[in-house]
Amino acid sequence: MKVIDPHIHMVSRTTDDYLALAYGGIHTVSEPSFWPGFDRCGVDGFRDYFQQLTVVEPARAARFKIRHFCWIGLNAKEAENTKIGEQVLAILPEYLDSPTALGIGEVGLNKNSKNEIAMFERQVELAAVRNELMLIHTPHLEDKLKGTRIIMDILRNEPRIIPSRVLIDHAEEHTIGEIKDNGFWFGLTLYPDSKGSPARAVDAIEIFGADKLCINSSADWSVSDPTATLKTVNEMRRRGHPDDLIRRIFYDNPADFLGQSPKFSVA
Ligand SMILES: [Zn+2]
Repeated sequence: MKVIDPHIHMVSRTTDDYLALAYGGIHTVSEPSFWPGFDRCGVDGFRDYFQQLTVVEPARAARFKIRHFCWIGLNAKEAENTKIGEQVLAILPEYLDSPTALGIGEVGLNKNSKNEIAMFERQVELAAVRNELMLIHTPHLEDKLKGTRIIMDILRNEPRIIPSRVLIDHAEEHTIGEIKDNGFWFGLTLYPDSKGSPARAVDAIEIFGADKLCINSSADWSVSDPTATLKTVNEMRRRGHPDDLIRRIFYDNPADFLGQSPKFSVA
């Protein structure tokens, strides 16, 4: 079984994690830009991070024969500081030009605030101008449905954005239907505690189907599991789902979505 994890934060993971990915058949990953667990104090902090994503991490992954791609963007949590945010927006094109940068992400909303929305709109505009793929973060809080709707309204208001080139991540049962109805891809994120178990993800697959679905671990610096996709593969097997459906969800689908960027190829 070969698996692609389209959303995993490898800069926060150890070499043992890379080994676990390689042993499990996760030979290709894509890493969105995100919040490091603290607010960076200036644009130079973002420069260092984007350098890590575009240069350092692909080389580290290659030691384990894993292909590493990334997404460049200003995350919602740090979009609140618009002074630094403006400076970050200005340097995004430089890093989007990197040979392993697949598009703009993960960008979106966290608390659905005015500043978050403004910074998100600017990045949608940038994606439209540059014809970039987008990977979208939706709020983890009770405002997920509201935030998802605001995000989709902004995307739909930009005619140059093609929904099939956008993945709206951290979807849940109450947002999947609307995301699919609007033609976007949807991401299901697996979490080791409470929400987002492999069983819940497979329940969602059985209800909503596999079309335009990507499953990811979103593993980062907090409590998370970089092999969560493999555990979900196992749960599908346990329930008797056929191998071709499993392959479609964990390999063909992410390859199709990511492969819309000419920079993408699988290991
Ligand atoms: Zn993430």
